[in-house]
Amino acid sequence: MGEEVPEYILNSSVEKLSVAYDSESAAYQTSTNFGNKMYVVKGSEYGGNSPTNVKIFDNITRSWIIPTVLGMKPIHVGGHSAVLLNKDRILIVKRDSELDDCIWFLEVDTPFVKEQKKVFGTEVVAWSKGVAGNAPKPIVISGPSGVGKGTLINKLMKEFPSTYGFSVSHTTRAPREKESDGVHYHFTDRITMEQDIRDGKFLEFASVHGNLYGTSIEAVEVVTDSRKRCILDIDVQGARSVRASSIDAIFIFICPPSFEELEKRLRARGTEVEEQIQKRLRNAKAELDEAKSHGPFDHLLVNDELEFCYDNLKKLIASDELATPLHRSTMKNSKILVSDVEFKTDKTFLHCGDKDLLLLDISSLKGGAPGRTRGINVCPVESSGGCVNGIAQL
Ligand code: ADP
Ligand code: 5GP
Repeated sequence: MGEEVPEYILNSSVEKLSVAYDSESAAYQTSTNFGNKMYVVKGSEYGGNSPTNVKIFDNITRSWIIPTVLGMKPIHVGGHSAVLLNKDRILIVKRDSELDDCIWFLEVDTPFVKEQKKVFGTEVVAWSKGVAGNAPKPIVISGPSGVGKGTLINKLMKEFPSTYGFSVSHTTRAPREKESDGVHYHFTDRITMEQDIRDGKFLEFASVHGNLYGTSIEAVEVVTDSRKRCILDIDVQGARSVRASSIDAIFIFICPPSFEELEKRLRARGTEVEEQIQKRLRNAKAELDEAKSHGPFDHLLVNDELEFCYDNLKKLIASDELATPLHRSTMKNSKILVSDVEFKTDKTFLHCGDKDLLLLDISSLKGGAPGRTRGINVCPVESSGGCVNGIAQL
């Protein structure tokens, strides 16, 4: 297993990490300085499985700040190490955890976090779990109500059940007759959904035709964790939010052949009362104008004859995958050496014994909070015994 540690790794300058045990609350914590602030990340108390806590100490005002914390939080009891990366995020490496759950990023000043600070008007930090290797780009499909998005997506999922997975959105609208909870949507109420939005559980959300709709982080991760390509059926506002986020996706807008045909399809579907039909048609006009002028879309596809449109959709998705470079480099100091981590052995994970080192190559990171940071290359290397404990940035 592993390779010999290259000379440059052992000779490189190493930042020793502050990992302290807080005996009062029986938990490990690290503190990482960034600008005038110190980010304190505290693991769960022993015996508990509550999520990791984050507080910020402002060195100027000499006071503690409790930030808004977005994204799914790691849970760990065995301690962790932390180091600031790229001057915008803290790499957290959990001890005593499985390899697919040991690398986490706490974003403190990424573009996403800067944007969210304006939205919330508070200090914001955002968690993102690190994932080894690449995952296929999600596909965002938008278009006016009744244009045929659902029909096209269903065909794709039926023809390629192991390739594509549907991101099941949340909505406050009532289920239609043939819709089931957890399959077509997660049906919820406004109070619960608004609280979940405040808790940072959503990648995006929007008020559409008088109801709230949103894509939870979990909905996308359930699909991508199953190694399927995620399909999102969301409105133009949602597509705009995803475009502005760190998610690297392909954006497709489906147009009707004419407004009259759209109205015909919407009425023929028979799922909406007249008032809703009128509202959806009014909104369709605005959506079509926006998509055609300055919308966030990479491609517009006309759904006239269904089979023809479906073939074009498949071609378009395939060509986008080929045209996309696998990596998008974001990090300058891109090699990280981790040496104090003991991983639980599991037949599906690489075993890294306590004398071994883990080399993380983060030169090709994709994505980020809220969600997953992908494209990490993980390479176990054997230590020659002289290495430090903690994380070294090479
Ligand atoms: P959306 O998901 O965009 O709201 P649907 O997929 O529910 O739209 O389609 C609305 C209606 O139009 C459905 O009854 C569907 O069978 C029909 N439809 C979809 N595509 C076509 C097409 N190319 N030609 C004719 N009818 C279509
Ligand atoms: P419907 O009520 O017909 O199922 O959906 C109405 C609209 O809501 C459609 O345009 C659909 O794309 C959009 N929508 C569905 N789920 C989401 C979501 O999670 N986020 C956003 N922004 N729009 C959604």
